[in-house]
Amino acid sequence: MVIKYKKRKNGLSTNYLISLWSKAVKCHWNYRCALCGRTDSLESHHIIKRNSNFILKLSIENGICLCGGCHSTADFIETRNKIEKMVDINYLTMIQCEYKLKKDYLLKKGITEKEYRSLKANEFKKIIKEYSG
Ligand SMILES: [Zn+2]
Repeated sequence: MVIKYKKRKNGLSTNYLISLWSKAVKCHWNYRCALCGRTDSLESHHIIKRNSNFILKLSIENGICLCGGCHSTADFIETRNKIEKMVDINYLTMIQCEYKLKKDYLLKKGITEKEYRSLKANEFKKIIKEYSG
């Protein structure tokens, strides 16, 4: 997959960062569906919905690699329970509560949104590179 590089006022575009996030999540889970072990038709799922929090949208910890079949059941309570046992759901909830607003996070870290986007791209590229060897 070719990831398009796109610049915008606040730095790297969300679409570009999400494609990198998606690839890094698959690497992190060794290109296997975390629920059934399939290695084809893989997708990256946001455990806490991506639109609910700016930080969790681009957190590797908030991602899990699922096959298309398992992904289509990701909102079912049984699947959610299984997923939540495989990740640090307390950490995700803490982030969600602590950083309700994007600016709270950026202020705490003392960085601009442009810098944040750039840091995230580097983090994901590093994970992808380490996986690819
Ligand atoms: Zn699966």
